Amino acid sequence: MKLNDRGLLVVISGPSGVGKGTVRRALFEMPNHNLTYSVSMTTRQMRPGEVDGKDYYFVSEEEFKKNIAEGKMLEYAKFVGNYYGTPKDKIEEDLDSGKEVVLEIEVEGATQVKAQMPDCVMIFIAPPSKEALYERLKKRGTDSDKTIQERIDKADREFECAKNYDYIVVNDEVSNAADRIMAIIRAEHAKTKRTLHSYIELLNEK
Ligand code: 5GP
Repeated sequence: MKLNDRGLLVVISGPSGVGKGTVRRALFEMPNHNLTYSVSMTTRQMRPGEVDGKDYYFVSEEEFKKNIAEGKMLEYAKFVGNYYGTPKDKIEEDLDSGKEVVLEIEVEGATQVKAQMPDCVMIFIAPPSKEALYERLKKRGTDSDKTIQERIDKADREFECAKNYDYIVVNDEVSNAADRIMAIIRAEHAKTKRTLHSYIELLNEK
């Protein structure tokens, strides 16, 4: 019997343009972890450089709605005109096998995950300033002016959601933000509420 056999469900979220994807990739490049990324499903157009099945599962709206109807999504949300959601299938299996499952999702979906899996760890990535975020959204270059403005408006509303999270990590430097997230994951594993049950079993083992 070992302590802390089950993996953690780690929800990384925050306003559009804050750099969640970059921080998540830096996190996965760190040594000695057992993280696995949950690939989301979306109806938005593939961006140049994106790979189907790696960045997202790119599907039609009809297929997305079919997955919802069949109860296959852990959560989903409509974001600036497109659907995004987390397929349920592998999550429990990965957690049981001790992997930390990382979701990188927007705030509405994160609230749905917390309601269904209250044991998850919710991390809000915040920008160093609002201006820094607006600049990033404008510079992305792949979106039209209308989409950029919609994403800025959405980000303004998303700032308010930080209070619902367990942790707020400022993305001042990508490597700092990734370090802090790894520290959170390690500390969460040692929390008494996650450990006590198996610790008592360990003490009672003959
Ligand atoms: P983007 O179009 O920039 O890739 O993503 C737009 C937003 O959707 C980002 O905030 C991203 O984190 C979020 N997102 C990506 N996958 C999911 C998902 O599975 N569920 C939810 N609710 N949001 C997601």
